[in-house]
Amino acid sequence: MRTPRLLASAAALTALAACGGDGAVGGGPGGPGAGDPYFPEAGNGGYDVGHYDLKLDYDPGTGRLTGLATITARATRDLSAFNLDLKGLDVEKVAVGGREARSHRAGQELTVRPADALDAGETFRVTVRYSGRPVTVTDPDASEEGWLRTADGAVGLGQPTGSMAWFPGSHHPSDKAAYDLAVTVPEGLGAVSIGELRGERTRAGRTTFTWHAAEPVSSHVVTVAVGRWETDRSRTGDGLPVYTAVDPQQADASREVLARIPEIMDWARKNFGPYPFSSTGAIVDRAGDAGYALETQNRPYFPGAPDTVLLVHELTHQWFGNSVSPKTWRDMWLNEGFATYAEWLWQEDHGGDSAQQTFDALYDGTYYPDEAANDAVWSFPPADPPDAAHISASPVYQRGAMVLHQIRRAVGDDAFRALLRGWAAAHRHGNADTADFTAYVEKSAPDEDFTEIWRTWLHGEGRPRRS
Ligand SMILES: [Zn+2]
Repeated sequence: MRTPRLLASAAALTALAACGGDGAVGGGPGGPGAGDPYFPEAGNGGYDVGHYDLKLDYDPGTGRLTGLATITARATRDLSAFNLDLKGLDVEKVAVGGREARSHRAGQELTVRPADALDAGETFRVTVRYSGRPVTVTDPDASEEGWLRTADGAVGLGQPTGSMAWFPGSHHPSDKAAYDLAVTVPEGLGAVSIGELRGERTRAGRTTFTWHAAEPVSSHVVTVAVGRWETDRSRTGDGLPVYTAVDPQQADASREVLARIPEIMDWARKNFGPYPFSSTGAIVDRAGDAGYALETQNRPYFPGAPDTVLLVHELTHQWFGNSVSPKTWRDMWLNEGFATYAEWLWQEDHGGDSAQQTFDALYDGTYYPDEAANDAVWSFPPADPPDAAHISASPVYQRGAMVLHQIRRAVGDDAFRALLRGWAAAHRHGNADTADFTAYVEKSAPDEDFTEIWRTWLHGEGRPRRS
């Protein structure tokens, strides 16, 4: 499936070059992907995005979205053309530096050829005016993301590639950027997003909500959730703003668990170090509005009221997954193994099973009521998912957490907690892969030999022998 689409993109670039006519363009095209082993067309080559400004207008009645995306980026080499990722929707106008640019679409690739070629190091601004009914994307693992219509609105969920269904961009975690979003919806509805709410203004029956996220965001954890919301603003004990938005039908079921956000944040800061972002919170939609919870930045998204452990999981992702982001989708265990281990630590610290007991139950095949689910933990090594359909499968979560537990056993509790904090600090607001992690662990505990843990737990097939 992927190769033919790549060929289509190459053909599109050739077509653009052939119809260019003005000859003297510097550099070549930027390329349609960021080099991901599982999603080769995700992200793009030749530039680095610094900021997205998204002006969106959505009507839940018709399902129609109109958008104006202004993307500020820096060319990392001379470029005659570059790509943006955009799935579905109609592109009405593309301009670079205020001058209309030629564009061409093939699959999810929007190729832009600026009137003037871009020089390496040059900062440029591309604007894309677009509209249409955003699509729901079915992932290789059959889950649904992209733009999901909900009972009273819609929600954009993007892991791993769904954000390209509602705005053009460089949709790969290796290209993080700051965001400003202004989302206009019919009066009476709300639009909740990442970062902090900066303003809310109603005119002629339409309300615009403006959101600002200053810290780097990977596009897969950007969201807009449109619907009827009960919102609440508070602060944690040390002053961090908390903003929650809850579907009125979920308000009673959510109240108690969301009231624990300050306590969970305190616990997480003790374990993982300073919080990387300037606000926290949660979005709770109705069960059935989406198939899974997602760690959307600043405030995770839940279809239905979460339990405490799920809330701990998604808030932990703000450190592991959102601040320390994977270099590619192969590194997903660095998100999910950590967030899963946070569940184990939370339970251990709050009168539940110890992490060792959880580890033992998984190891012995008694963790799940279902034998197939217990066996699935051993279906592949966490650092090497076999394909794109398995980046969110159980070994990435459970066996990823078991890797961390093996490290904890090797170095001891105090050194392990220091290691978690140190890892979050070392790659704060950056990207990391498995090799970065193993190198970090080895440097942190130079007297230990981790060779066997890496060989068996991280990269080995099947269930390792008990050590
Ligand atoms: Zn997770």
